[in-house]
Amino acid sequence: MASTLRIALRNGGVGGPKATKLTAEEAIGEEMAMRKAEEAASRRFEAVEWLRKMDRGAVDIPLGEPSEEEFCLALRNGLILCNVLNKVNPGAIPKVVENPVVAVQLADGTAQSAIQYFENMRNFLVAVNEMKLLTFEASDIEKGGSSFKVVDCILCLKAYHEWKLAGEIGIWRYGGIVKISSSHRGFPSSLFNGATADESSDKSDMIHDHQLLDVLHLLSEVFLKDFKVTNFLSSFDHFGVRLLETLLIECADAGEFSLNDTLIDMVLEQAVKEFSALLVTRKNQLSVVMKKTMGENNKAISKATFFEVISKHLEEYGNNSPSYHATSSDASNLDVVDFQHKQLEKLKSSFNDLKAQVKRDHAKWEEDLRNFQLYMQGLELNTSSYYKLIEENRFLYNEVQDLKGCIRVYCRVRPTLINISDERSTIDYIGENGSIIIKNPHKQGRDARKIFSFNRVFGMNSTQAEVFADTKSLIRSVIDGYNVCIFAYGQTGSGKTYTMSGANLSVAETWGVSYRSLNYLFDISKSRTSIVNYDVSVQMVEIYNEQVRDLLVTDGCMRRLDIRNNSQLNGLNIPDAKLVAVTCTQDVLDLMKAGLANRSVGATALNERSSRSHSVLTIHVKGKELASGSILKGCLHLVDLAGSERVEKSEVTGERLKEAQHINRSLSALGDVISALAQKSSHIPYRNSKLTQVLQDSLGGQAKTLMLVHINPEINAFGETISTLKFAERVSSVELGAARVNKETGELRELKEEVSTLKSKLESKEMEVQKLKEYASLADSEMHNNRAISPSNSQNCNFILRNESIQRALSNPGVVE
Ligand code: ADP
Ligand code: MG
Repeated sequence: MASTLRIALRNGGVGGPKATKLTAEEAIGEEMAMRKAEEAASRRFEAVEWLRKMDRGAVDIPLGEPSEEEFCLALRNGLILCNVLNKVNPGAIPKVVENPVVAVQLADGTAQSAIQYFENMRNFLVAVNEMKLLTFEASDIEKGGSSFKVVDCILCLKAYHEWKLAGEIGIWRYGGIVKISSSHRGFPSSLFNGATADESSDKSDMIHDHQLLDVLHLLSEVFLKDFKVTNFLSSFDHFGVRLLETLLIECADAGEFSLNDTLIDMVLEQAVKEFSALLVTRKNQLSVVMKKTMGENNKAISKATFFEVISKHLEEYGNNSPSYHATSSDASNLDVVDFQHKQLEKLKSSFNDLKAQVKRDHAKWEEDLRNFQLYMQGLELNTSSYYKLIEENRFLYNEVQDLKGCIRVYCRVRPTLINISDERSTIDYIGENGSIIIKNPHKQGRDARKIFSFNRVFGMNSTQAEVFADTKSLIRSVIDGYNVCIFAYGQTGSGKTYTMSGANLSVAETWGVSYRSLNYLFDISKSRTSIVNYDVSVQMVEIYNEQVRDLLVTDGCMRRLDIRNNSQLNGLNIPDAKLVAVTCTQDVLDLMKAGLANRSVGATALNERSSRSHSVLTIHVKGKELASGSILKGCLHLVDLAGSERVEKSEVTGERLKEAQHINRSLSALGDVISALAQKSSHIPYRNSKLTQVLQDSLGGQAKTLMLVHINPEINAFGETISTLKFAERVSSVELGAARVNKETGELRELKEEVSTLKSKLESKEMEVQKLKEYASLADSEMHNNRAISPSNSQNCNFILRNESIQRALSNPGVVE
């Protein structure tokens, strides 16, 4: 459109020759026709709206956008037009013919309505004409006429009305026409020739004006777009809104105004008035400048120079309004827009890159997640099979332990405490596979030696570590949820306490089975922390004179404790005994020290330090499998039994005798229980002593029992040694019957063979001695006879010598050999 306009202007524009003007008119006319066709409907609507507002009679015009016909029909009687004109310009039509009856005017009308129509319409057109506003022909409103001019006339009237309301200054627009006036003299004057309305009434001039106005309107539209008046218009909007807002706030207390249509219109009309006034002032200033420029340069000025001078002037005076030429600010604005456009493009492309990257990452994460899930599934599978393996391992381990025998007996020989020769020891021989031969120092011959067999025999030089090495496997069973019982059996002074506790707790090498077991137990539990969570707690009691007493009491009050055989609730046989949770071996060591201090120790003729009570240290282990949540419960009884010596040997009476009797009774009850278990008897006599009651859950069933039998190697302990070993043999013989047969076939057979060779040698020597004796007595009688009949000196002398050698041989048979 801008190019069409430029052609139009180049070809003549305002005041150009007639021939070229036609071309411009053609171009403009074409453009105008299009525009007018587009705008006809909306302008008609605008006109109707205004009419409705101005006159209540206009409600008969259909709502919305009325068709051309409906529009003309509603206005044909002239009543609405006259009423509205009278409102705009009171008294313009002194007499309006009312038509109170007719609500809907028929297209052909009646005679009565034809008169009304004629009078009203004529009066209206005359009045409008007098006011120098746009008018139309009466035929335009007839059926088949053009409503275009009618709409123009109404909108012109509207603009005039608004202009009037705004104080009759400023600008108003309607249709294709712009009229500006700063005159306060009533009617607007023509813009182009500065003449009054009367002077410009010439028809050709009117046409000329109209054409110019059309061109101007078009130009304005183009420039308004170029100049981007949005800021200006939005300033107006803000101004209007602020004005209304402030008015309401200011008058809020008085309560005079409430927000309504009229108030809004009033405020906005005031805003228009203010802005119009500003524009007019501006226009006047610009007009003065322009005219002055023309005057100064004495007519000879070219158009180009004129605009150059004006632009310079505007710049000099810091005019911010847009220049008539493209200014540098326009160019820089374009640059900015261009730059921003490029930035936008860049942002767009980086956004797209980012989006693609995010998509790629997302896909990768999904892939990773899938892999991770697969990995986790594999791990889960492995874990479950790992747990199955552990379970199987536990089962097999237990099987191995069972094959070794549920009741095991180890024998340990205490070293001799004073330096005595081997001849004064009762230990004759210790075999590697668990046999031991005891010799009677007072006997000779075949009854002097006795052989015993156990699972293992530790000699005098065995260390604490060696003894524990063979005990270790049972401790692992505790961690796996089995009950284990380890006894130290033997006469007083045979080394029970030494084996169980150690001689000196501050010397690591001498630590006994109890301490080492706990150490091992904590070691295993720590190595399994990722699989099983273990809780370890300790109880320590002693059984003295068939009474159970708590050794971990700290108040010194030794209460008697009850034994509950059916203690399912917390799995404790002695629920009232103090149960102390421990986390390391040192904790247990401290407890053991305290417990030992509480033990009843009495003096006997055999050993001053001998303990006269059974001490039972119980370690409860509770393991919770992290994966399955299942609980494993095992307990380890470490029992240091009281001395097993027979009462009569102890040479005690009174209280000591009572103690000894209790001890003997409880030890034989223990022997009975173990042998009943070994024989798989239906009745196990647990209730015969407190000791067997306390240990009930660790004797029999799945439980494993280890008896550490101690013997004193000294000669004076021979009797006790034999009775101890007999007791131990009773415990182990039945259980290990099959194994014992295998043992006898080996080493024992050799020994037996050796014994029989020795025996036969002895017998042959005895026979020799017998012969010699007989020979000697015969020689004696011969000598006696010779002395009596005829003694010969030389012969006598020879016989005496021979007899002396025989006597020597008798006293030492080996020499004879
Ligand atoms: P019990 O507890 O059977 O009455 P003890 O353990 O008190 O016997 O031992 C008695 C004495 O023998 C203690 O002085 C102890 O140190 C010592 N003893 C026992 N066994 C050994 C051993 N294997 N090595 C060294 N000394 C020992
Ligand atoms: Mg002891």
